[in-house]
Amino acid sequence: MLSPKFLLHVCCIGCGAYVLELLKGDYEMTLYFYNPNIEPRAEYDKRLQEAAKVAAQFGIELIEEEYDNERWHKLVRSHEQDPERGERCRICYRMRLEKTAQYASEHGFNIFTTTLTISPHKDAEAINAIGLELGKKYGVEFLARDFKKQDGFKKTCELSRDLNLYRQEYCGCGDSLKNMMARKK
Ligand code: SF4
Repeated sequence: MLSPKFLLHVCCIGCGAYVLELLKGDYEMTLYFYNPNIEPRAEYDKRLQEAAKVAAQFGIELIEEEYDNERWHKLVRSHEQDPERGERCRICYRMRLEKTAQYASEHGFNIFTTTLTISPHKDAEAINAIGLELGKKYGVEFLARDFKKQDGFKKTCELSRDLNLYRQEYCGCGDSLKNMMARKK
């Protein structure tokens, strides 16, 4: 019997490799890289390159979507000062999940999810609520999980070390980069 086709949105591949390990026994996996929030462009390219490296190692297809950073800025306009986990982040989750759900629906995937819930800085409840809503809208099942549970974040860091993967120090957007620099001062 054929395994269900699974579209996995990856925000960075350290988290992606861990979730792939969890799911690849039950599904036919494809990675989906849609992260126009990541700044600067060089950082985006670095995370994408790492994703391509892991996709090749696992023998899995990686789909790269466009880097429509201007659209991301338009959507979060007037929320630049919001704290992490606030409205700016919810807009950012929705933008990325909506594109993933749409792609899954148009390309015959049975199920989709995102690695976003691994980070202790992300609001898993909000991410899963948005995913479930978009799954209904596009007619594709959404796998609602909090991947940081059962030591998920710790295991992700260990696996990244084992596979010698790049791990970024901030979420992605310029505002999260500024916050990270401020914490370091
Ligand atoms: S902190 Fe992360 S989730 Fe929030 S808006 Fe920035 S990139 Fe998106």
